[in-house]
Amino acid sequence: MRTRFAPSPTGPLHLGHAYSAILAHDMARAAGGAFFLRLEDTDLERCKPEYEAQIFDDLRWLGLTWDGEVLYQSDHLAVYNAFLNRLVARDLTYPCKCSRKDIANATAAPQEGVAHAVYPQTCKMRNMSERSENDAIRIHMERALEVVPEVSFTETGDAHQGTYPIDPEHLIQTVGDVVIGRKDIETAAYFMASAIDDARQSITHVIRGEDLFEFTPVQVMLLSLLGLDVPVYHHHGLIRDDNGKRLAKRDDARAISKYRADGATPADIRAMVGL
Ligand code: GLU
Repeated sequence: MRTRFAPSPTGPLHLGHAYSAILAHDMARAAGGAFFLRLEDTDLERCKPEYEAQIFDDLRWLGLTWDGEVLYQSDHLAVYNAFLNRLVARDLTYPCKCSRKDIANATAAPQEGVAHAVYPQTCKMRNMSERSENDAIRIHMERALEVVPEVSFTETGDAHQGTYPIDPEHLIQTVGDVVIGRKDIETAAYFMASAIDDARQSITHVIRGEDLFEFTPVQVMLLSLLGLDVPVYHHHGLIRDDNGKRLAKRDDARAISKYRADGATPADIRAMVGL
């Protein structure tokens, strides 16, 4: 078993991160496997060195040890771009110049059960040769689904346990033509880079919060389009605040560093997240 913890250094780690990291670490160690640390630091504006330092410090304090070198995604932007270009070369993408505002204006009220607005396909007739600077790259979902090998993924988390074949209709309706190539820098979108690294690091079990469950089918689709291995996924329940809202980076009150400053022990943190 090979697991990983893949935080983005855009804020302090909170109890939800502690849960993910401890679970992934303990599952690997219990199986005699390996546990890796990857910093998803491609958002050059929001990532900060001080958050990075705090991540290492918090994880060590929790008693977690990782194998091998830490993988910094910012060192590998060209690798993700090369994978993206394989999809471009297969004519599975198109350039998009729409801003968030354009999309909001062109989209009817979000449908129930659809987590985010599905792109209204304004740029769909455009060709990659027309791409200009600051155009993002979108997947042409119908074309991609035509060529994607038949694939399913296994989920072992309590809430969604089972086998999920990729369902084209569902992907078209709920995900649509997502951005897979960024407009600010020449590289893949973060969720694609993350899936690529799971394969590059031969991660066998992706253990992470349930909020990422909805991204899984499109990550699995991209992996199989690229001929990369699909891991087993294990989405765990979210740690919520007293009002039942999931913790976000800005919930500094739940930061591990805050609990540490208040005198909590690593065992207290484990107890708080139910491990
Ligand atoms: N970097 C993502 C985050 O910090 C996690 C991605 C993943 O675990 O797949 O939310």
